[in-house]
Amino acid sequence: MALEAYRSKRNFAATAEPRGRTPHEMSDMFVVQKHDATRLHYDFPLALDGVLKSWAVTRGPSLIPGEKRLAVAVEDHPLEYTDFVRIAEGEYGGGSVIVWDRGAWTPIGDPHKGLKKGQLDFELRGQKLRGRWHLIRMRAKPREKRENWLLIKGDDEFARPAGTTDILDERPELVKTGGSIDDLVGESPGSPSKTGKTEKERTHAAAAEPGSRTLTRATPDPSAVEGVSKQPLPGFVEPMLATLS
Ligand code: MN
Repeated sequence: MALEAYRSKRNFAATAEPRGRTPHEMSDMFVVQKHDATRLHYDFPLALDGVLKSWAVTRGPSLIPGEKRLAVAVEDHPLEYTDFVRIAEGEYGGGSVIVWDRGAWTPIGDPHKGLKKGQLDFELRGQKLRGRWHLIRMRAKPREKRENWLLIKGDDEFARPAGTTDILDERPELVKTGGSIDDLVGESPGSPSKTGKTEKERTHAAAAEPGSRTLTRATPDPSAVEGVSKQPLPGFVEPMLATLS
């Protein structure tokens, strides 16, 4: 019963999270979900045996092999969880979730032995995270209830030297829509994207250029046109048709 702990923590009448099917599906998917809960963290699930083996990486992954990131083991999650984006406020784990990276993973060696031994070596083929990675279980402190692991980048061509830009700062965008988490906050429906240019901006840009055509969006005033008089609207206006030429 791999999902027992997961289900016992949630009220499925209140949360939209999936209950999870009986594990049967084979998958080699991995996801990194940026989870803005009580404390911002990155959920890091790896699909194995039809469920998601999951860790909560408190500071997120790093491409610098010397940067060991604390990864707290959490209960197995259902596979459908990777498509899930928001947990209701007040529910377990409430806050917004964005898919920060996704792709496929390949264990190096037997993953079951690795999980038991406390050293899982694997390769990621995501949009942001690639190459070799390691999850190393730390020795448990007395009365420590959590299982603490370290997520460490393997030293390969996808690794970065110490002092280089943090991948989390460099690529904050979602993998699904290409926007960043901030773009979704406080945006009113139908308003132009914060990342795109609005009509107004474009008009200003054109007007600022000397000799350029100014695009006026304001309704023209017909009474300003010479020789016109105010008339009632005609009952029928003949449409202008295309002429074969
Ligand atoms: Mn989480």
